[in-house]
Amino acid sequence: MRKPTDICLLCQEKNSTKKKSHLIPKFFGKGIFEGTSPRHGVGIYKTGKRERIQDTLKENYIFCPDCERGFSIFETYCSFRLERFNDYKYRSQYNRIKRGKFEYFECKELDIRIFNLLIYSIVWRVSVSESYAFGAFKLPNNEENALRILMKNYIKPTQTELFDHINKLDFLPNHSHIIIRPKKKLRPPNSMISAASLNEWVHEMHLVDYIIFYFTDKGKNAVGLEEIDNNNLDNLVRVGLLPIEDWKSYSNEMVSSILK
Ligand SMILES: [Zn+2]
Repeated sequence: MRKPTDICLLCQEKNSTKKKSHLIPKFFGKGIFEGTSPRHGVGIYKTGKRERIQDTLKENYIFCPDCERGFSIFETYCSFRLERFNDYKYRSQYNRIKRGKFEYFECKELDIRIFNLLIYSIVWRVSVSESYAFGAFKLPNNEENALRILMKNYIKPTQTELFDHINKLDFLPNHSHIIIRPKKKLRPPNSMISAASLNEWVHEMHLVDYIIFYFTDKGKNAVGLEEIDNNNLDNLVRVGLLPIEDWKSYSNEMVSSILK
């Protein structure tokens, strides 16, 4: 068990006094409570154990308050710019692209550099977490450390300061990651929170309405999905859209494989 006198896992300088650090941004997890009555969320983990979500997404004494705040700046900035896709009022902020059955949207207002920091912060936090819920998710140590060093430079007390520094971000680790969601969010969500590394370089994360595939080896990205790889500094952020039926069968498969 970690203690408040331990050193922050991110900066490795200050004490990790922060309690209830979020491992996964709140906005990703909140959908799990929508459309259920009474409102509750159940997480299903690789171990087959089920538990109410609220507690397991938080961990004590892993970060200092400054690093925790830095993460929350990535989250606040990205959450609206991703989530407004569902809101007709903001449709001009997105491009919708169709290639046969394959579909995705681009977020015109979302800075891809900050989005990369957000994705790194999530996979990294889940990887360093000591929670049994995420025991099956682990990045290789050297890749984990590369993300830590990169993120540390962009932990800032305000969004303005983050933007003052973001132009220095001109190099990303040789990774690849994609994010997909159903065309329309399901309520109740028929999904869950879970994370597992499938092998040394493929890491998969279900965050209720989104699935993230993270590849610690860029060459190993899923064939045909290179177009929506967001691990770059030049494109708009792209979010893959799955037809509802494909999403449902994929989630069901995932749930049953975990419960096996
Ligand atoms: Zn820190």
